[in-house]
Amino acid sequence: MGGLNAVVSESSGGDRALDLLQTVFGYPSFRGHQAEIVRHIAHGGDALVLMPTGGGKSLCYQIPALLRDGVGVVISPLIALMQDQVDALAEVGVRAAFLNSTQTYEEAARIERRVRSGDLDLVYVAPERLMTPRCLDLLAASKIALFAIDEAHCVSQWGHDFRPEYIKLSVLHERFPTVPRIALTATADHQTRTEIAHRLQLDDALHFVSSFDRPNIRYQIVEKANGRKQLLDFIEGEHAGDAGIVYCLSRKKVEETAAFLNDSGIAALPYHAGMDFATRTANQARFLREESIVMVATIAFGMGIDKPDVRFVAHLDLPKSIEGYYQETGRAGRDGTPANAWMAYGLQDVVQQRRMIDESEADETFKRVLGVKLDAMLGLCETLSCRRVRLLEYFGQPATPCGNCDTCLTPPVSFDGTVPMQKLLSAIYRVDQRFGALHVIDVLRGVDSDKIKQWRHDQLSTFGIGAERTEAEWRAILRQAIALGLVTVDHEAYNALKLTDAARPVLRGGQQVQLRQYQKPVKQKRPSSSKPKGYVESDLSDAEQVVFDRLRWWRVETARKHNVPAYVIFHDATMREIAKARPGSLNDLRGVTGVGEKKLETYGEEIIALIEAMR
Ligand code: ADP
Ligand code: ZN
Repeated sequence: MGGLNAVVSESSGGDRALDLLQTVFGYPSFRGHQAEIVRHIAHGGDALVLMPTGGGKSLCYQIPALLRDGVGVVISPLIALMQDQVDALAEVGVRAAFLNSTQTYEEAARIERRVRSGDLDLVYVAPERLMTPRCLDLLAASKIALFAIDEAHCVSQWGHDFRPEYIKLSVLHERFPTVPRIALTATADHQTRTEIAHRLQLDDALHFVSSFDRPNIRYQIVEKANGRKQLLDFIEGEHAGDAGIVYCLSRKKVEETAAFLNDSGIAALPYHAGMDFATRTANQARFLREESIVMVATIAFGMGIDKPDVRFVAHLDLPKSIEGYYQETGRAGRDGTPANAWMAYGLQDVVQQRRMIDESEADETFKRVLGVKLDAMLGLCETLSCRRVRLLEYFGQPATPCGNCDTCLTPPVSFDGTVPMQKLLSAIYRVDQRFGALHVIDVLRGVDSDKIKQWRHDQLSTFGIGAERTEAEWRAILRQAIALGLVTVDHEAYNALKLTDAARPVLRGGQQVQLRQYQKPVKQKRPSSSKPKGYVESDLSDAEQVVFDRLRWWRVETARKHNVPAYVIFHDATMREIAKARPGSLNDLRGVTGVGEKKLETYGEEIIALIEAMR
């Protein structure tokens, strides 16, 4: 193989990076900061790249690796995905391989020889592998084009994906001071960014921070009643036949939810770290290769999943932080067409997450960080304004209401909740802060339960003062009281509700409280035809649709033959363009987005013949 550089130097002068983008990857132009980043790295600079999931980080190191002498070393924690990444590169004619623990000694030795002899453009290495003396010696004996540190937020000890091996990556700078380094992540908060720069000794690196907005994703957070049933309604109503990911907190819930969806006629697979490796890997492979699998998973699943046509991400449990939520939801709609991020959230979630923090073995400082992160997440759930504005502002990016989230589409009703909040707080106070949510709400509503009688709580002045509201409404108010920090749940005392110092001014009447009106869950309907900002619809005519469908069949067969996911052959967007243009010659096909020289060579004739046969 090889010869990519030859292709480029033949073309008339000009920008070599752009030539590579067009001839190898088949894309007409760079996106966002890509061009600047590529130029900077190609000239030997260091960079820290923050781009949302689906933003196009890979090209930022792949093209400089092709431009510079030697092999580009990509450090990635995602062993399970290395094969797919290498396959996708082979499809466009880039010489790539990986080194990780799944290989035999002989296989690894063969790849190592290729690294040493300069026969590879890119090599993917797991961080623990890289740190071995054997691997460092190999690199010292080879010509290195660059180091790309993918998922760089794994270096952050405060983060949710911390990997101790990442800390040691600063050794690269010490041992290979002249090799440019590029660290990439989709986690954007300021603290993580500073930590990455510091720990990886990227002192002179340029920071490239992209817009974090994902305009094609519609955010929805609904009141949880019966979560599973609501999930089913959501999938049946809006995503029949689509690929999606459902996140649950526990392994048990993953298994149960997957079984429930299967019983309901939806092809679902479980994924969590407690499953044996073979089953887990097989499930992931099916999700990637087949078109309409729903993956039910813990957060162990998804990092680096670059399946472009995931149409929805659903959360059945509250994520721990906005970073986690944004990264997980970011796996939807990487192809830029409409996708949904849906979550069901209720009082129990708040209680559970707070308990997990209290019971964790972390030290007090760390617990405080976790608490602040959870508060921000709760703020997002309870917000009265645009979800996207909240999200982007969290990442330090100013924004205006988006028109493509639930609070924009159906603005929540807010009301002066001072009086009901006072009722709730005094009910908690009157039962000596020794009872949990159920009991307190029974007192408010004046319910004659055995427990009420036993404790003679029907004698209290607060008994029945909230009879005008349903239990669900009171739960919503209590949830907001917790989110606002007026009430805490004491896990060491049977989940008793306790007042905080912040509750005092509200109780005394010195402080107003604005609350979000409880909204009864409704069955999800197909979304109206309103199109999100920035989304271009496919608008295929009937005749074009026929060609597109034929191309899809061809893609399924071809992907099976090559044993790669379908999108590695061509993206939907590329096939849509082909269906519209119906190219009559290889030259016509060359202009289509996503068709580079290698793919033209491999598939061009077949596609032209297929279209010819349909004329
Ligand atoms: P991430 O930032 O999540 O790693 P990827 O590098 O996987 O994103 O890119 C996301 C998708 O966008 C991929 O399918 C990629 O081929 C496509 N892409 C990236 N850059 C461009 C570009 N300049 N023009 C067209 N498509 C692009
Ligand atoms: Zn909005």
